[in-house]
Amino acid sequence: VRILFRDVVVLSSHLDGVWRGDVLVEDGRIQRMEKGICEEVHRVIQGDGDYLIPGFVQTHIHLCQTLFRGLAEDLPLLDWLEKKVLLFESKHTPDTIRASAKLGLCELMLGGTTTFMSMETVRYTDVVLEEVSRSKLRGFVGKAIMDRQVGNAPLFEDTEKAIKETVDLIERWDKQGKLRYAIAPRFVPSVKHDTWLEIFKIAEHYDVFIHTHSSENRDEIKLVEELTGKRNVEYFDSMGILTDRMKIAHCVWVDEQEIEMLRSSGAGVLHCPSSNFKLGSGIAPVVEMLREGLNLSIGADGASCNNNLDVFCEMRLAGLAQKVRKGADALPVKEIFRMATLGGAEVLGIADEIGTVEVGKRADLVLLGVKDVFTTPDTANPYARVVYSAGRGNVRIVMVDGEIVVEEGRCLVYDIDEVIRDANSACSSLVE
Ligand SMILES: [Zn+2]
Repeated sequence: VRILFRDVVVLSSHLDGVWRGDVLVEDGRIQRMEKGICEEVHRVIQGDGDYLIPGFVQTHIHLCQTLFRGLAEDLPLLDWLEKKVLLFESKHTPDTIRASAKLGLCELMLGGTTTFMSMETVRYTDVVLEEVSRSKLRGFVGKAIMDRQVGNAPLFEDTEKAIKETVDLIERWDKQGKLRYAIAPRFVPSVKHDTWLEIFKIAEHYDVFIHTHSSENRDEIKLVEELTGKRNVEYFDSMGILTDRMKIAHCVWVDEQEIEMLRSSGAGVLHCPSSNFKLGSGIAPVVEMLREGLNLSIGADGASCNNNLDVFCEMRLAGLAQKVRKGADALPVKEIFRMATLGGAEVLGIADEIGTVEVGKRADLVLLGVKDVFTTPDTANPYARVVYSAGRGNVRIVMVDGEIVVEEGRCLVYDIDEVIRDANSACSSLVE
């Protein structure tokens, strides 16, 4: 199938500024970028100067928590987790988790996210994987591993069962179509020492990532120090598991030594500013981490602590937070745009396939309409228009692997009315 984007303004991290012309997509790849392409195609999409950008990459979310939106308000991390989120997760049934995943996937694609990494809960990850593969998005997904109880939280399981189920899920789902498995030990307090070592062996054997949380909040760090005698990153390093396989959400409270450990290991950092603000956790030292050359990317975390899965919110907040810490020139717009696109692709090891709008790459693309009140005037810095002025309402077309999943703001994969109805009824049964 050949689709031509006619007269679009291309924004992409590898460009100095922008490029205007036609972009031809063929068999899932960007085939040509020239001015005035007159080839026979199946479909022409008129850009008239609208922006063609790489699909956004969100490296840290929880599809299973979309249903908990607005149900866990005004609590700090450990209470939020123990009293609300783990309780809700323990009540999930296959039906409620499916409704949650579908709602999340719709939200992601309607907002221009084409690739994501999601940590699920202890049970029913099969159901989520089914929905992700149906959604056509590029997903890295894994079941949460929790073989140690956190406080009085009702959600934990036997080590042997956790490992067996993880291996079974990897064997059945990893590298099926656009799906990749990512092993998901939840965080240090919920995973036994020997289990980390076992997980690392499995990750090496199957060549998959390890997706976890760390250094999010000061009480959590205190708890980790009580349990291990070390700070989070130091603990990972001491076990010999801190490598470029590790993809670590938050890293809000990391000291200089930990930043150096993250840098030399090549581990990926998954920055979630809204979640860090909303749970009152803190502001991650993004400027320092970028200066040291760390691999940084962006994610919304779950809808239970955000309460959106909106990459535009995350970009805006990522920028503003660093300006408050380090001054107005702390984090330029292009750098923020990069974290939400190519940076995410790099963290997920697929930057040679996606993350920029370049000939030869997979066609994961978003067409943003920029002829509305909110993004005018058109003489503005184009990257600033995307990062600070545009929003999900500007998303016209979303394409994954050359296939259109959102058309003029309408989801083509799911019946949205049905998704909303199912989510509402699933949520009321869960709350009961
Ligand atoms: Zn999270």
